[in-house]
Amino acid sequence: MFDRYRSTRKHGGAAEDARRADQPAAGSGVPAGASAAPGCAHTAHLPDPEPPASGEGCRGCDEAGQHPVQLRKCLVCGLVSCCDSSPSRHATAHFLATGHAVMRSHEPGESWRWCYVDRRIV
Ligand SMILES: [Zn+2]
Ligand SMILES: [Zn+2]
Ligand SMILES: [Zn+2]
Repeated sequence: MFDRYRSTRKHGGAAEDARRADQPAAGSGVPAGASAAPGCAHTAHLPDPEPPASGEGCRGCDEAGQHPVQLRKCLVCGLVSCCDSSPSRHATAHFLATGHAVMRSHEPGESWRWCYVDRRIV
């Protein structure tokens, strides 16, 4: 039992070390399994203080006669728009149109922020 363990280790160990040393540092800026760790670079570039809300409702929905399910506020320009549960998803549309990556929930009692680029709470 002991012998088998030692010989297996000797064998695979050397080969593995060589393979690992050959590999370049994988990826550029995308660390594997980093989704749980903080690392959103966008919050650092947000205006301080936060821009005032553009209004109390989603302008896009008002114009289209739709009703937003929940409201979000863009933390770059202050635009209030609707969440992805709403018919027109104006907050996501705003991000796609402008590149404004971070928004905050504009619902009473909620203060979480979402980064569209990193796709998580920041
Ligand atoms: Zn981000
Ligand atoms: Zn809307
Ligand atoms: Zn914006």
